[in-house]
Amino acid sequence: MERFDLNKLVRENVRALRPYSSARDEFVSKGETMIFLDANENPFDNGVNRYPDPHQRSLKAVLAEQKGVNESQMLFGNGSDEVLDLLFRAFCEPNRDNIISLPPTYGMYKVLAGTNAIENREVLLNEDFQPDIEAIFARIDSNTKLLFLCSPNNPTGNLIDDKKIEKLLGNFNGLVVIDEAYIDFSGSESWIEKLHDYPNLVVTQTLSKAYGMAAIRLGICYASEEIITILKKIKPPYNVNELTQKEALRGMMDRQKVQEQVETIIAERNKLSKALANIPFIAKVYDSDANFILAKVDAADERYQQVLNEGVVIRNRSTQPLCTNTLRFTIGTELENDRLLEVLKTLD
Ligand SMILES: *Cc1c(COP(=O)(O)O)cnc(C)c1O
Repeated sequence: MERFDLNKLVRENVRALRPYSSARDEFVSKGETMIFLDANENPFDNGVNRYPDPHQRSLKAVLAEQKGVNESQMLFGNGSDEVLDLLFRAFCEPNRDNIISLPPTYGMYKVLAGTNAIENREVLLNEDFQPDIEAIFARIDSNTKLLFLCSPNNPTGNLIDDKKIEKLLGNFNGLVVIDEAYIDFSGSESWIEKLHDYPNLVVTQTLSKAYGMAAIRLGICYASEEIITILKKIKPPYNVNELTQKEALRGMMDRQKVQEQVETIIAERNKLSKALANIPFIAKVYDSDANFILAKVDAADERYQQVLNEGVVIRNRSTQPLCTNTLRFTIGTELENDRLLEVLKTLD
């Protein structure tokens, strides 16, 4: 079997590219009071008149310490959606390359494949919502650049087996992208701990879920320094704005609050999970390692509408493969979850 070769994986035009050098790249303030007449900004201070740090240094320093990852192994984006898009644009040649995704899963992989003119090879998860390793390798060819694993998976809520992930990492010469948007709600360690073991490992996380900052749009990519260097070449220089950087820093500093909220959400999830199992029209409640619960019901379209009529918005996931007649419930506050249950109990 061939060895993993990052140089061969990257698109030719990207390999040849030099990153755009912004005014803020060419001169980095060392703290003295300087007069900045280099970036055509408005000089009158209002808190946002200067361009933001294109490398988000303060943010990376905090995260590096919290996660035990080197700053050179991180890249931030406007949500993880931008980070995922950068992976396509760096490694997948339009109308030639392909990626592998494992439905039922997060819808963005397919959307991004479509917008980048990349073939999306779908290999269904098995009945336990785990990857079918043999079927995946049967679909991989020399143009397969990315393999997306979502763990915990959306919308099913389960973690992907470590052993299966190891098999994929060890035997696939493209990048294995593990989307850990929900990792903080799981009992499992992040794969970022294994970055040194696997040169083809990419892990994405986000501030949108556990950190409670979906509105600021901050996604994080962790990978080898070599992979990050490639992504930096094509990253728009000011893709993470000043307000987002400030707010993210504030939010990340308050680790205790994040931890408390995560614990509350997990406790509520476990409570709701038990209660859902006693609702007569719910046939199955799937185990969850995330901040939502998937459940199989008798007639999802009808139940969805009935719940909506009572002012509670849930997600009908029935159109996804293996998810016929399923509904997905996000864990809310205790009050919200109690209201959901009250509504479910009154339906006939
Ligand atoms: C919610 C979610 C994200 C978050 O995307 P952002 O763009 O960072 O908000 C990423 N992946 C999965 C699987 C999700 O469910």
